[in-house]
Parts: sequence; structure tokens; C-alpha cells
Amino acid sequence: MSKHHLREECGIFGFYRGDEQIHAGETILLGTFALQHRGQEAAGFAIYDGEVLNHYKDLGLVEQVFLSGNIRHINGIIGIGHVRYSTRGKKGKRESAQPFVFFRDSNPVALVHNGNLTNHSELRKLLQSQGVTFVSDSDSESMLHLYIRSGEDPIEALSYVYEQSRGAFSAIIMDGDRLIAFRDPYGFRPLAIGVKGTSVVFSSENSAFDLIGFKYIGDVKPGEAVLVDKNGMHRVQVVPPRFPHHCIFELIYFSRPDSIIFGEDVYEFRKNTGRKLALKESHSIDIVVPVPDSGLPAAIGYAQTINKNLELGLIRSHYLGRSFIEPKQESRSWTVKLKLLPLHSLLSGKSIALIDDSIVRGTTSREIVKRIREAGAREIHIRIASPPLIGSCPFGIDIPTRDELIASNLTIDQIKDFLGVDSLVYLSVEELLDAAKKTKGFCTGCFTLDYPGEVKHEIHSSTGFRQRK
Ligand code: SF4
Repeated sequence: MSKHHLREECGIFGFYRGDEQIHAGETILLGTFALQHRGQEAAGFAIYDGEVLNHYKDLGLVEQVFLSGNIRHINGIIGIGHVRYSTRGKKGKRESAQPFVFFRDSNPVALVHNGNLTNHSELRKLLQSQGVTFVSDSDSESMLHLYIRSGEDPIEALSYVYEQSRGAFSAIIMDGDRLIAFRDPYGFRPLAIGVKGTSVVFSSENSAFDLIGFKYIGDVKPGEAVLVDKNGMHRVQVVPPRFPHHCIFELIYFSRPDSIIFGEDVYEFRKNTGRKLALKESHSIDIVVPVPDSGLPAAIGYAQTINKNLELGLIRSHYLGRSFIEPKQESRSWTVKLKLLPLHSLLSGKSIALIDDSIVRGTTSREIVKRIREAGAREIHIRIASPPLIGSCPFGIDIPTRDELIASNLTIDQIKDFLGVDSLVYLSVEELLDAAKKTKGFCTGCFTLDYPGEVKHEIHSSTGFRQRK
């Protein structure tokens, strides 16, 4: 519900031009722009034409950074783009923005990465002991050093990257005139492949493929590297896949509703979560109100199932920029007042089902409830299209610590009282997983504290991440 407390780490995009006449700069601009929701802190691109590398990155949104870097006037045969919200690396520092670029015998090697290496502090020490100096504290920079230091054969170099790296990584490397996309063996983060003739794109999400004229042909598989060069596309299973741990939060909230993630239609998944909530309904509901915009697909599924009207009882102000709120760090109450406008005529006297995808700290939800009460609602029943959020994320999603998560500290009854609602219902983990039609094998660690076994010890020892109590 309080979406500014849950952030994706990054979005990545890669482009390889085959025989088609496609403008690299324009394609990378549009492709990366479509990933803006995955990170708004910094953006950057690197484009190579076989001789000259154009590389530009800065703090800010794709539109401002890429246009400042003159991307519309840059063409080339290969390139990558990145949007960032940091969970590792210094926030607000230009040097932690991506792509990271180094040169090997005058050939550029550049990397963009989405995820989080759980053994980063050990990796950094290892690389430092080998004489590496870092320009940032980003785990993505370490990953590029690992790659560069392992010889010129890309598969051998990637084998070393896989051997050394733990945690979540979907990444794209531009190695001279060769583009390589690869994914950790658990498949935590998505990475889609699109083709147009002999040209290829890779992207965290496939939703922009139509816009740039590419056809979605599937995903880079867990443990797999997909290489594209003048001889075409080659797929190599670098390490065996592990039992998949696809991040279920990509489906609940992070990804765009028009994307296919892990083979699931995100919009349909979210509607299914709403349907499942409706099947548990035991109260008399007059109207269904989504918390905009994230609660909308679940609210549609819920309303269709209980056969009640979906009403936009909360209107979101679209013109409220972050800078308007953040310098003052005003109270949550003030922020909610600015952001969400309750429609009194709709809400007054009604029993309302208020639908959202998740509750993080609960403070924003409480303010929203207060506003709806002030608008004259008779009863407010909150329905959450995911289970209680009780754990942090070591794999690249910026979830607050357990101390700050309301469901980690209060019972459902206590949360209901804290929010000031008449009833509160969450989905169970089983119901959530059942909302996925095809995919099996999700990470649900932040709902269950059951993280992939192999990384538990590393998480505990290297990042101080809290373990199950
Ligand atoms: S812990 Fe939660 S947010 Fe992190 S990867 Fe697993 S499901 Fe996703």
C-alpha cells in the first residue's frame, strides 16, 4: 500500500543490431524508458559502433539523463541501458549508476545488472586482495571485475562469475561487439528476449517489445547465458538450474501489468488474487474501491467475483512529484492528503471493500482509512491481495527491516485495530501461489522467512540479514 517503501532495485535493457536498419539510440531509449517503474534514482546507457563507445549515466529519470546524453543522435551496433534504485551501493551517487564500463585491449566491456549479490562483501575483499580498486561500492561493479579478470572466452569468464556469485542476478554484458545476457541459477529476477529478424533485445520486462517492433520469444533461463554476435544467437547452460525461486513480488507489485513475467500474465495474476480474496468474503459490501494504482487489477477480479460495482473512490493526483514531498519529509497524513482524493459522494454511507496488493509499515494505509472515514464511509473492510509481509529481501528488493514491518510485529487483529478498519483479510501463501496459472517455483521468503537454503548462511554471515526467529 505504501509503495514508496517498496522499491525494485533495477531494470536492464540490451540491444544487438543484426541485418535490420534499427536506430540503436532510439531503441535503447524507448526500451529503458519502459522500465522506469523499476528504478527512478539514476539511469545510464552505453552504445558501441565497433570503434567508438558512447557512455553516459547520471542521477535522474531516463528521459532527462538519456536526452542529456544525446542518445537520439547516437547510433551503433550494440548497446545497453539501465535504471536504478539502489539497495546496495551509495544512494544518490553518480558513480554507482550503471552501466559500469571498463576497457580490455581498447575493447569496451560494460555491464548492467538487476538483483543483489548476497556474498558481496567477501567478493569485494577477494578482488581487493587481487589489486582491484573500485570506483563505487556496487556489487555490479564487482561482477564486472570478476568477468574481466577471467580471460577472453565469455563462457569461461561467466563460469567464474557463476562460481563466485551468490544471490540474485539478471545481467547483460556488452563485450566488444558481442552481447551476453545471463541469469542466476534460481531465476530470481526476470529477463526477457525479443527478436526482429536477426536483431535481438533483452529486457527485464517484455512490455515495450511491441512498441519497438520486437517479438517476445521467451526468457533467458535460470543458469543460462544467451550470446549474440555476428554469427547469431547462441544459448549456453553455463550452470545447471536450481529449483526455481522466481520473486513472487514481481507479479504482486513490481512488474508492469502488461508484462509476461516468469511465463505469467501479470495483469491476469493480479486479477486472480482479487478473485481469491472475493471467495473468502463474509461481509456485506456495497462498493469495491482500489487503492490506486497498484490495487486496481486485484480490485477488478474481486468486484467481478462478488458481483459488486468497482468505483474509483480514491483519485490519485498524478502531478505530485517526489521533490514536492521529500525535502520537507512531511507527515504521512499530509502526503496522503496531497496524493489521494476521496470522492465523498461515492463513499458516504457505504460499506466499502478497500483493495490493495500489500501492507508494509501500515502507516500509509491507516491514513487512507482515516480519509475514507472522514468522507463518511459506514464500514471499511481492507482486503490485501498477498499474505502478511514479515521479512526483508536479500535479493534486490528494498523491503524495510522486520522491526518496521507491521505484520512482523502485530497479529492480524492488532493490525485491524491499528488501521481502524472493520475487518482485514489477507491471502494465504497457498492462495497467492495458486493465482499463478502456469509457473511453479517461487521465492516467497518475505512472507514465509523461508529463503533458498543455500544462501541462508551467506545471508546471515555476510550481510547481517535477519534470520528466522
Ligand atoms: S524475499 Fe520476497 S521480495 Fe525478495 S526475492 Fe523473495 S519474494 Fe521477492
